[in-house]
Amino acid sequence: MPVTAKKPLAERLLEGDRNAVARLITWAESGDRRYTKSLQTFYPKVGRAARLGITGPPGAGKSTLVNELVRVLRARERSVGVLAVDPSSPFTGGALLGDRIRMESHTSDPGVFVRSMASRQSHGGLARAAIDACDVMDAFGMDDVLIETVGVGQAEYDVIQAADTVVVVLCPGAGDGVQAMKSGLLEVADVLVVNKEDLPGAHRLAADLEEAVHIRLAGKDAWQTPVVMCSAGRGKGVEKVLDAIDAHRAFLGEAGLAELRKQKRCGQVRLAVGELLDEALWGEGGYSQRVESELAAGRTPYEIANEVRDAVLSGESGANGAERG
Ligand code: GDP
Repeated sequence: MPVTAKKPLAERLLEGDRNAVARLITWAESGDRRYTKSLQTFYPKVGRAARLGITGPPGAGKSTLVNELVRVLRARERSVGVLAVDPSSPFTGGALLGDRIRMESHTSDPGVFVRSMASRQSHGGLARAAIDACDVMDAFGMDDVLIETVGVGQAEYDVIQAADTVVVVLCPGAGDGVQAMKSGLLEVADVLVVNKEDLPGAHRLAADLEEAVHIRLAGKDAWQTPVVMCSAGRGKGVEKVLDAIDAHRAFLGEAGLAELRKQKRCGQVRLAVGELLDEALWGEGGYSQRVESELAAGRTPYEIANEVRDAVLSGESGANGAERG
């Protein structure tokens, strides 16, 4: 028998054990059921952290900006969790991605926790793991949780949904403004940041974005997405970015934030139900065999689909159905 029985991870998390943060996120990432069980213990402590999403095309300066935001937030004595998500990298079990090394300047700081997350098999899986990682860092006691994505695809869009406020970072050159307008990036942005203010074309890009926002939102009773210029590489304008984020939070207010988070939690439940159903329907003891034999009998896919739905809703199990079929 061990001399000291180990405390459950969730308890260690609430006592401020950094190793517990890392382990719980690894469980979440790998879909380990121990995560779901642990969450029951620390879920009452979730909800205090401000969640900030940072997205934008590669090279816009997101990592640089995140580093600067961490620096300014630390100067304001706020603790910060950073989640860097790269859906295009293979699943690495949470190892630090190469280009996150720059965050190292903060890693000896107990008020900062940095974690990288790479892709899992499904987009849904990564989005779920990102929400979980935010919940863990939130319960751990981080005042702010920053979620940074590497690119701007659908997977990143899903991940960024975990945030209360979404910052889209762009920079002059390579038609980024036009690209952003085409790809629907403006729609997800609560704050638009034009980084690399020091480069030519930055003011023009900001003016174009302002016009695009104006066309979309003018006269509407909605948050008017601000366009903020900064030069993260030179540590300039970062306070203005934080001011815009604070203004968005103030606009939401307590009730608005609660409503937004409720909607997001509903989405999380739907996602989880989808995953659970998928497993139950097509895993062992599910409907695969029955579907195969029905297809072999010449029935149409839609007939079979309707039948499977009816069987599920009436509580009939897949295996029994297959035997009967
Ligand atoms: P990410 O891919 O969006 O995370 O972009 P990075 O933060 O890695 O930055 C991409 C490149 O832009 C790096 O070489 C940075 O040094 C550079 N960079 C970042 N901020 C600025 C800035 O304010 N001005 C200029 N000129 N370069 C910057």
